[in-house]
Amino acid sequence: MRIDVLTIFPQLVDSFASEGLLGKTRTNGIVDLRLHDLRDETDDPHRSVDDAPFGGGAGMVMTVDPICRTLENQGVPRPVILLGPAGEKFDHSMAAELASMDGFTLICGRYEGIDERVRQNLVDREVSVGDFILNGGEVAAMVILEAVTRLLRGAMGNETSTEDESFSDGLLEYPQYTRPAEYRDWAVPEVLRGGNHARIGRWRRAQALQRTLDRRPELIEARGGLTESESDLLAEFEEPTD
Ligand code: SAM
Repeated sequence: MRIDVLTIFPQLVDSFASEGLLGKTRTNGIVDLRLHDLRDETDDPHRSVDDAPFGGGAGMVMTVDPICRTLENQGVPRPVILLGPAGEKFDHSMAAELASMDGFTLICGRYEGIDERVRQNLVDREVSVGDFILNGGEVAAMVILEAVTRLLRGAMGNETSTEDESFSDGLLEYPQYTRPAEYRDWAVPEVLRGGNHARIGRWRRAQALQRTLDRRPELIEARGGLTESESDLLAEFEEPTD
């Protein structure tokens, strides 16, 4: 998969994307990440990428030309995605959708934002990572890079490890434990300490269902509620009440 990022801070994204699993996906050729410094497509001595807003007001606005020239001169992959708080909300299903593509391009804004004509004429969609304002699109780009690349075949050492994770089947993940089995008086649930893998599987499924019901009931609703067998599973592991 090819992912291009347009930014005035390419080293910021490059450094983040050189570490951990994301870094490995680059070295083993699963992801071809190309960073474009918007200042490389400027002609003035200051390599300016911003100007004062028409109509007045605080701050600066990123100009169209460096973005337009980078998109046209670098043969970037489509869709071209503008990062901005007014965009469609990024989530697991959008990550899966992007992971199924051959590539895409992310445009990171800075300052007060980007000249509206970029959105109107040059991009395919606009994406937000949440209802808050970041200083720039680079952190948003890194969120998307990480969420998408971990879904690519071969990106995680263990092929099954993304399948059990929260949101992959519309549920939150079951709780995880590791050694020691007892820490102070906090014990790991008994069921995980025996070797009954069928029972462990049922317990984990029940925990995922219960946790999702408690914390994100709208996710259960979106799946059409609980099936009969899921209700039975919850009943099987229900704690007796005094
Ligand atoms: N003035 C803009 C507004 O009120 O909507 C915010 C501009 S923000 C300081 C600068 C850049 O950060 C934006 O152009 C965008 O690229 C990025 N950004 C900020 N918040 C974001 C979010 N929630 N999702 C995606 N990108 C974001």
